[in-house]
Amino acid sequence: MPEKFVGYQCSICGRTFAPGQVTYTCPHDGGNLDVLLDYPAIQHSLAPEQIFASQEMSLWRYLPLLPVEDPEYPQIPIRSAGSTPVYTLPRLAQEIGLRELWLKDESRNPTASFKDRASAVVVTRARQIAASVVVTASTGNAGAALAGMAAAVGQPAVIFAPRSAPPAKVAQLLIYGAKVILVDGSYDDAFDLTIQASQEFGWYCRNTGYNPFTLEGKKTAGFEIWEWWTLGPGSLFQRSLNHKPLSIFVSVGDGNIISGIHKGFRDLERLGWLEQMPRLFGVQAEGSAAVANAFFNGGETIKPVTANTVADSISVDLPRDGVRAVRAARQTGGSYIIVSDQEIIQAIAAIGKYGIFIEPAGAAAYAGLLNAFRSGQINADDPVLVINTGSGLKDVRAAMSAVKEAVVISPTLAEVRKVLNL
Ligand SMILES: *Cc1c(COP(=O)(O)O)cnc(C)c1O
Ligand SMILES: [Zn+2]
Repeated sequence: MPEKFVGYQCSICGRTFAPGQVTYTCPHDGGNLDVLLDYPAIQHSLAPEQIFASQEMSLWRYLPLLPVEDPEYPQIPIRSAGSTPVYTLPRLAQEIGLRELWLKDESRNPTASFKDRASAVVVTRARQIAASVVVTASTGNAGAALAGMAAAVGQPAVIFAPRSAPPAKVAQLLIYGAKVILVDGSYDDAFDLTIQASQEFGWYCRNTGYNPFTLEGKKTAGFEIWEWWTLGPGSLFQRSLNHKPLSIFVSVGDGNIISGIHKGFRDLERLGWLEQMPRLFGVQAEGSAAVANAFFNGGETIKPVTANTVADSISVDLPRDGVRAVRAARQTGGSYIIVSDQEIIQAIAAIGKYGIFIEPAGAAAYAGLLNAFRSGQINADDPVLVINTGSGLKDVRAAMSAVKEAVVISPTLAEVRKVLNL
């Protein structure tokens, strides 16, 4: 293993472990593990400017800050995860009354969701520990990402998903050639079954909020936001009159994405490379709000709910990374926002008008921003970044419910005039 990877630390009890001592969660309390890097050594051998100058246009530009060896991938899909665009949305900002609004579009990843970041790093880890099979439970996107990244390197993959997963996501799993097992139960049932199966058959398990390497992949989005902000809109020159921190809105299911982005900023902070911690706002659906509930109760106890929301990617009974997800908002001066399914569906259409096709879980983040702005948690001059976590093509049925059906006419100009009132 690379020397920069020095071990793990439990997020609950704080115990530390050597790299070879544990694989998944804390053996004492089941807490999520943070990967520890050799921060002084990195600080000594690397400067931010070297990363800024990298020609690598993918998450692999952060290899010196990742706990894997250089995989030396040729130009295959796993090599192109990350480096997603940030769009500026001046017309939308004006429409809602914000001064500055951006959207980071994670649908531009190889399998069209944020999950590629985690799966790229987990598959790389799997190769380096010579795992025979990789496996994950998924509401759809994590599975598609693992199946796609595994296919790119020829690694066998098994995916457990709830039977109710949207058809496009199941199609992706099958097309990537994974062994797909649909469980007649919830995501949480699939999750527990996957852990049992991986223990029984010796498979390497990617489960979100279980395998510590998913967080390491997801933290690269934090690195990208830092680079974009430092060199772009957040640069001292442009911001000399306004030192407001960036506010980031992201949807939350298991809580691994928001925790991952936070880990990215925490790594940068430990390296002394972060000028100002952004505020993290987690957005949950009304029918799946276990992390938000814990946040508002003021503690860190995650009580399961019976999840029910149109946003399947954030439909989770018991969030598996809830504690770190609560902290991500609490330690950065952010908050949690709860949105209704109706607000989520409306947000799909609202963002679509600007040329971005967004899945319900991605739309939730924007709905959360509207909510936070209305309630005064965001001011008009706060710079805001919304993260679109997945593509609208993943769930066409939900998208269709956001718009009126197209008209059908017979092929005559008279009919065209009629329907367009010309
Ligand atoms: C997985 C996922 C989320 C939520 O991520 P968590 O780590 O479960 O909180 C949000 N949006 C999309 C599209 C996802 O696939
Ligand atoms: Zn512990």
